[in-house]
Amino acid sequence: MPWMPLVLVSSDAFERHLTPPGHPERPERAHVFDAVATAWRAGGGEVRAPRPATIAELAAVHDRDHLERIAGTSGRAAMLDPDTFTSPESYELARLAAGATLVGVDHAMAGGGPALVLVRPPGHHAERDKAMGFCLFNNAAVAAAYGRAKGASRVAVVDIDVHHGNGTQQIFEDDPAVLYVSTHQYPCYPGTGAVTEVGLGEGRGRTVNVPIEPGAGDDDYAQVLAEVVVPVLTAFAADLVILSVGYDAHVQDPLAQMQVTTAGYRAMLATLRATAEAVSGGRLVVVTEGGYDLPALGACLEATVEVLSAPAGAAPAGSAPATPAETAASAAAPRASGPGIRGREAVAAALAVQRPFWPLV
Ligand SMILES: [Zn+2]
Repeated sequence: MPWMPLVLVSSDAFERHLTPPGHPERPERAHVFDAVATAWRAGGGEVRAPRPATIAELAAVHDRDHLERIAGTSGRAAMLDPDTFTSPESYELARLAAGATLVGVDHAMAGGGPALVLVRPPGHHAERDKAMGFCLFNNAAVAAAYGRAKGASRVAVVDIDVHHGNGTQQIFEDDPAVLYVSTHQYPCYPGTGAVTEVGLGEGRGRTVNVPIEPGAGDDDYAQVLAEVVVPVLTAFAADLVILSVGYDAHVQDPLAQMQVTTAGYRAMLATLRATAEAVSGGRLVVVTEGGYDLPALGACLEATVEVLSAPAGAAPAGSAPATPAETAASAAAPRASGPGIRGREAVAAALAVQRPFWPLV
């Protein structure tokens, strides 16, 4: 298959989703997205404008009551739960965020090239009938349902945000055509994502949770990907891979206690891209979720662009030394045990639960 270049999907409109002062999911995150998109465009890359998701596209994964409730916040500020807020334009911007992922899916499905979708509000905590955890509509889930409607017989959603994507799991928990794989800090918000949650009914085995103890770093995540995520993704052989990427497992992130460096994120993205190339012909849509340290968010997004824009089959980027900011953040964090222990424990627990469903060693 000829190499299809990466496209970015974003808009400076996402800065207009306002949250209260001090809220971590703040408009400045959109400025980081803009800087990444501007640099990509300046280098000759393509940035596509998003379109709003239609009501029918949203209704594929959300209840009508939920859609009406969020639409009802149009033109005003509202608190939907203690973490989740709207501003006058949030309904339209949440539709635009969900629709941005569909522009990405169209590109990936048509050409076999990757798309990077830079959006806020994030989506993976939004359930069928509920906004929560900063999320109004479930962007990745809307994309997965759209991919199915566009002819993908199997869609994999891989979620490497530091938090469990309870919404994405709930929406597809009984659907054998959509695989949901999540790595996440555990225990942590929102409390779901135990290793024993494997899906329901016909969807049993199509939910793969890999909870990881706080303090895990690059080695731990690399091990989890190599021994659980990649083998499951390979066996499932999705036609379309959607990656919910939160950069809040970064060592500098204020909301969680993981130790992943920018180089660690680069390595994870390289592994997941190579797997998507192998199983789905490169039909890969990467959509942003969390990531609340702005310098870390910017550096990780630059690394993501580098990985996704390298020619298919190019060797994954090697490791890189930690930056001074990463070293300082890591030194300030407690570390009860050596590197790799949390990864080994997470892998062992996931394999014990998932072996009946997957060819795992
Ligand atoms: Zn998160």
